[in-house]
This record gives sequence, C-alpha cells and structure tokens, in this order.
Amino acid sequence: MAAADTPLLLLNAPLVASRLGYPDLSGLDLLELFAFIHPAQFMVPTPKGLAQALGLAEPASDDAVPALLQAAAEVLLSVCEDPAWPEREGAWSVLQSLVRLRWPWAGLLAPRIAQPQKAERWLFARLPEWEEAPERPQPAQIMLQDEAITARLAELTGSGAEARPAQQAYARAAGGMFAPRGQQRQPHMVLAQAGTGTGKTFGYLAPASLWAEQSGGTVWVSTYTKALQRQLRRESRAAFPPERAAQTGRSGPPVVVRKGRENYLCLLNLEDALQGGFTGRPAIMAQLVARWAAYSQDGDMIGGDLPGWLGTLFRKRGITALTDQRGECVYAGCPHFRKCFIERAARASAGAELVIANHALVMINAARAREPAQRPTRIVFDEGHHVFEAADSTFAAALTGAETVELRRWVIGPEGNQRGRRRGLAARLADVASYDDEGARAIADAREAAASLPGDGWLARVVEGAPFGPLEDLLAETRELVLARDESGGQEAGYGLETEAAQLGGSFIETAGRAQEALEALRQPLMRLALRLEALIEDGPDWLDGPARARIEGARGAIGWRTDLIAGWTALLARLGGPGDPEFVDWLALERSEGREWDIGLHRRHLDPMKPFAEAVLAGAHGVMMTSATLSDGAETASGDWTSAAERSGAPQLGVRPQVFAAASPFDYARNAEVLIVTDVPRGDIPALANAYGRLVEASGGGALGLFTAIRRLRAVYGRIADRLARGGLPLFAQHVDPIDTGTLVDIFRDDPRASLLGTDALRDGVDVPGHSLRLVVMEQVPWPKPSILHRARRLAHAEKFGGGGQAHDDRIIRARLAQAFGRLIRTGTDRGHFVVLSSAFPSRLLSAFPPGTPVRRVTLDAALQSVAGRVSDAASATAQHSQIDESRL
Ligand code: SF4
Repeated sequence: MAAADTPLLLLNAPLVASRLGYPDLSGLDLLELFAFIHPAQFMVPTPKGLAQALGLAEPASDDAVPALLQAAAEVLLSVCEDPAWPEREGAWSVLQSLVRLRWPWAGLLAPRIAQPQKAERWLFARLPEWEEAPERPQPAQIMLQDEAITARLAELTGSGAEARPAQQAYARAAGGMFAPRGQQRQPHMVLAQAGTGTGKTFGYLAPASLWAEQSGGTVWVSTYTKALQRQLRRESRAAFPPERAAQTGRSGPPVVVRKGRENYLCLLNLEDALQGGFTGRPAIMAQLVARWAAYSQDGDMIGGDLPGWLGTLFRKRGITALTDQRGECVYAGCPHFRKCFIERAARASAGAELVIANHALVMINAARAREPAQRPTRIVFDEGHHVFEAADSTFAAALTGAETVELRRWVIGPEGNQRGRRRGLAARLADVASYDDEGARAIADAREAAASLPGDGWLARVVEGAPFGPLEDLLAETRELVLARDESGGQEAGYGLETEAAQLGGSFIETAGRAQEALEALRQPLMRLALRLEALIEDGPDWLDGPARARIEGARGAIGWRTDLIAGWTALLARLGGPGDPEFVDWLALERSEGREWDIGLHRRHLDPMKPFAEAVLAGAHGVMMTSATLSDGAETASGDWTSAAERSGAPQLGVRPQVFAAASPFDYARNAEVLIVTDVPRGDIPALANAYGRLVEASGGGALGLFTAIRRLRAVYGRIADRLARGGLPLFAQHVDPIDTGTLVDIFRDDPRASLLGTDALRDGVDVPGHSLRLVVMEQVPWPKPSILHRARRLAHAEKFGGGGQAHDDRIIRARLAQAFGRLIRTGTDRGHFVVLSSAFPSRLLSAFPPGTPVRRVTLDAALQSVAGRVSDAASATAQHSQIDESRL
C-alpha cells in the first residue's frame, strides 16, 4: 500500500516484487537510473554491486541497505551536474522523451541536466560508419616452429620458458593445425584434451597469434558458452595487440567477436520503437537502449555490454523485438546500413586476426558464407565436447508452425495492423520487379503461394479444430496424433509431447502430400527469382549501383537459404509414408511449457550430425582443433582409446586421422576436492530433497551451486527452502524462479560468498566462478539422458555398432555431464570444495567421470553435512592464506 501511494526507492523492482509476491510493484528503480546515467557499464544489480560501481562503502548488513540506496541516488543524480560526466552527450535529448513518457526519474533529472548550447547529435548520427575494405589476399603458407610457439607462449603468460611443461606441450600440439594442407578435403585435425588449469586458452592463442601474424590469415575460435566467450575476449587482448596487427598492414580491430544476427541491436527496429512502435514501459526501455547504443562497444544485446538485467526490468520480449530476430534485414535498403552493428561485425571479421564466435555461427558461416573471406578455414573449437550437440541442432530440419509463420512473413510482410518495417519480399525488391517482368512474376507467384502457409493466429485455429490451408491441416493432424500416441508421461506434467513418425495412416500421408505440394509451389518461384537476381547482377543495368547490388546480393543469399530450408521440409514430408531412412530420425512433436502449447511440428535429425558437419565445416577447412577438459570419456582416455572422441569430431567421415593430445589437470584433487554420494535421500521425495538441499547450503554457509534436471523439482525445492535460508542470512537465487537473466544470476552469485544458486543445464556447462564463492556443487540425482525418440534411436544405433545394449552410450553421456558439473567446482589451484550427488543408487562405473585421484565416498546425509561443514572451515582459512596467490588462475 505504501508503494502504491508513494514512489519508493528500489533496487531491481521486479525481483523485490517477486520476493514479496506483489507483482505490480514499481517505483524509483535505481537500476533504471544507473542505465540512464552510465549506459554500457557493468554493474552487479545488488546493493553491494551498486556500492562498488559508485565507489560507496558496501553495506555491512541488510539494515544498512536503505541508507545506501539513498546515498546511491544522490551520487547518481549529482553526476548529471558534473561537467566531466563522460556519458553526457545525448542525455538531454533522451530525457525530453522520457519526460513525455512519464518515467519516474524524469522529474528529478530534468532540473539537473542542462540543455546543451549546441544541438546534440542524434544517436544515429553519433555512431561511426564502417568502411568497405579491399579483399584480402589468401593467407601465406607457413610452418610454425616449436621454439617460436614456446616463446610466444612465454610472452603471453609472462612466465619463464620452463614454467609449464604441460601448457607448452599443449601449445605445440595446437600448432599442428596450422601446417599447410597437403590434400583437398584433408584438414589437419588436432584433438586435445587438457584438464582444468592447463592453460588451454593461451595454449592455443600462442600458435594462433603467430600464424595470423605471419600468414595474414584469420583464425576462428569457437565456444559454446557465453562465459568462455567473455573470458576469451579478455584474454585475447594480450595475444593480439592492435599495434602488431597494424604493423602487418591490417586495418580494423585484430580481435572481433561475432555472434548470430539475433544477438545484435537492429537500428531500424530501434528507430521504429523510438518513433511510436513501443508504448508505455517498453517505450521507456527503448529510450534507455538508445542511450546504451550510443556508448556500446559493438551493439551486442545478449551477453555484450548491455546490462543483462535491463531487459528483465521491463519486458523480456522488448529486448528481442529490438534485435534482428526474424532475418528481415533489408540490407542496403536500410537507411542505417552503413552504421549497422551487424554489418560492422561481419566486415571487421573478414580483416581480423582472430574471430571469436560460437559453434552454431561457425557452422553456418562455413556452410553458407556470402564471401570466401567470411568462411572459417582455421578453427579452434574450444568446449569441443559440445560440437556434436551444436551440429545436431544446426543441421536439423523442423517443419513447425512457428517456422512456417516466419517464412510466410518473410515473403509477404506484416499483416493486420502491425507496425514496423517488415515489408516482405515484394517491397524489398520493388526495383527488380519494375525492371524485370519475369522477376516480378516470380515475386507475385511466391506471394500467392506463401498465402497458404500458416499465418497469425494459426495455433488457436489448429487447437480449435478450424485450421486454414494445407500446412495448418498437417499441423492439426500432427497434434491429434501426438496427443493420441504419446506415452512419455508428459501429459500431466505439462511437458512437451512427441511420437515417432511411423505408422502414420492414409489420411495423414495425404495431408502431408498436400502440404508438400504447397511448399513446392513456393519453392519454385523462389528459385526462379534467385536465377533472375543472378542474371541481373551479371547484366549490371545502370540503376544497379553499389548499394542496390549489395541489397540484391543479400536477397539472393537469403532466398537461397530459404529454398534450402523448404527443400529440407519437403524431403521430410516425402519420406513419411515410405520406408524410414536409416540416416535420419523423424518424429512429431507438440511443444509445451507448463502445460501451455506453443508450437507443433515435424522434426528430422541426422542420426550422426557429424556427417553434414564434416562436409560443411571440415572439408573446406585447412586446420581444425577440438579441445576441452572433457573431450573424450574418462573411461576411454585412461586406456588411451580415442575412437569415440575421434568419431564425434567428424574426422573419420573424411578419412582424416587426427593428432591427439592429453594432459591431466595440474590441480591436487585428492587434497582439494571430495565427491560425496548421499545414499539416504529417496528418489522422488521432494520434501526430503528440499531438506537435503537446505541443510547442505546451511552447512557450507552458502557458496553452493545446486543443479537440477527438471525445472519442476527446482521450483519445488526453492519454494521450500528459500525463506528459511534468507532468514539465516544465506540468500538463495534460482534460474526459472527469479526474474533475472542467467548471466546476471551468475554475476550475483560470484559477487557474494554467502549466496547460493539453483539452476539447470546452462549452469552445469557455463559457470566460471573461481575462489571461495563456489565451494559446494549439489546434483539432485544422476543426470540420466531424457528418453526421447532421438535418444532412443542413437542408443540403438550405438548398440548395433558396439553391442552392449546401448548402456555404454548412456554412460558416456552421463559421465560427460558429471565431469562438466564437477568442473565448476575447482577452477584454480587454491579452490577447495565438495561435489555432492543425492543418489541412493549411483553406479560405480560412472565414477571415472571424476578426475583421477579425487576421493569419493558413499555416505548418509548426516555424514555429508559434517564433511561439508568441516571442510568449509578449513577452506575459509585456506582461502584467506591463499588469497594473495589467487592470481595464479589461468
Ligand atoms: S542493416 Fe538490417 S540489421 Fe542493420 S539496422 Fe538495417 S535493417 Fe537492421
């Protein structure tokens, strides 16, 4: 009631609201003020983080927080009156819009921000334009000498040349991928497994930087998680100094981070939003994003310098609507093309020494980059154990409602009264249509054919039994069949449902046939149009100036990609009635979350996605390295058997024999870590599970990372223990509960040694929290693979090939997950902690997941609590002693 009457000073209103169970809480949120005053600056959104960011004393206890919030507001407001405020430019103009939007802070800021004497440059004028660069020559063919690699490594680590034999050996092994290629389709491949602490990053950056410097080429380093991407961005600065790149005649930055288009701000979308496309709270967010865009390093909205918490203060969709989600970019037809962040990153990467990207983007660029300079040929896949998964989703086909709606929109443009620039193919190629009759006909035919695809409101029509057109008919029958056949037990739990694409019946096959015809009717005119565009580019009529050519080339690329997509879908439909193709796994699915349906469709995966990966990525590459702490299975490397790791690299598909390298972690696991398998928490007993979590967190005094395989159980446990722990001064945060993005949750966790964090897969793979903040990892059970149709098919294939009923296949997956989760615990030579699995029946054959020498005990919960509590007091004193040398972290 107080909050409704008076605007209160708050920090992170949505979080406070969710903790209080009062969803509409609003007020003067200091995070919003911070985002306005210091755009593109990092801050952990907690009282302590705020204090650190503003140079104030950290609050000693919760009681001191209200005073801190007042002091922080005063500091932030006074910044505006400081003539040296670095982010002043643009503030006055944005504030005028925020006053109109009745932003709560606007009234307090207005008297403090003076109108500039000279009119301010508007955001888009302030952003720099990128330059067209001449095409780069091919890289020179060079051989790297081992001594040079070792010397470069010593330069990077600042240590003496003798310091780290394992890291040196690793760096020399990595150098193997840069040797000149002897035969077509035969890249040099290196599989390098190196335990945590070997110093992998500098290990491969050393030869990579040497090669890039001497050959003039570009090395791509690919990661799976954003956490590693951030780390690489930091560490690569030393390996690729701009001065050296300039000496070798390169222009532009030596290191470029590239992500998928959907990560970046689209300036045209922002312009739409600022000019009335967004109203209410989202309009305020758009103004704060405009402040950020003017100061952002690269326009990356997801994991870049836009605070991860900004979007959650408003509305999740708001941020997504500002990125180029739907591939609707109009390229050179866009007034902001020359300032576009996405175009800038793409161009810069062609001239860079090092491109940092993710697995999916590397695969997509290798498969369909517009220009050869954008195609990766020397690639280090860090977090190499995830390449298989990334290839699996990159080379998948999904003919679903959501996908077909996207396609329809791309062809036809917006429907109804939606605002925005989504103008469809005809508007994008208006000049082609007026010049070329055949092109115009192809566009008209494509529009007509696209009209039979699912449009807005398709899901409601399908659910109500009133589908429109052949594709919606197919989706309706798919839904019926999935509901009729699914026996996964997901019906009641509200999870997604699926069934094999088998024994489908005549009516389904006929409907699929009609859907296939409808898709073919769209593919044909698109192919005709692509040919016309090619002819046009060759003819080069007068009006085809540089920007028009770029736009048409862009359109041709986009059409090629869509025709491939449709071809994949029709191939999937064509197979339905006939005998199954052993190369693929097909199924029908109804996607749901918490019981709410959101997509329906048919899915196809390669039984072995490394086949298309080998063709698309490896065949054209000259050197590829896959590296990770857990590249191969613990059970295999112990015996020196790399067969399965090699198979999962795709190398055998091209007949390539990879060089292999293994180095154990230098950490003393026997002394610093302990695995506790708790045998007396019954599986499926939520109160017992919650009790175990609560007591373990208390025993360790926080600093716990709790990993779950099901969101439902995570929420149930959180609901039972969060209040109790909070009252004891042990804050608990949780993915899927707190309205905070995962990256920020990890930042908060890292920043507060008494905080604990619960989460699912993303935390198992991407959390890098060295030191005392993470001293306990708890897994709720053995991470069995989900028994999906795809999993069953791969398990069966494994069993047919190797025998053993497929258990070995499952075991490998579980061991990999355990190893990843364990890897979160010990990040430096001085880290100490416990890894607890709450499982009454933990099979011994899985124990090889843990590094050799790690003590493992099967214990009761009480014994585990004693151990955790005991070691924590040791660890606290050890950490105090070692804090001086914590820098030794690699
Ligand atoms: S060029 Fe494309 S992505 Fe960039 S701002 Fe324009 S429309 Fe958006």
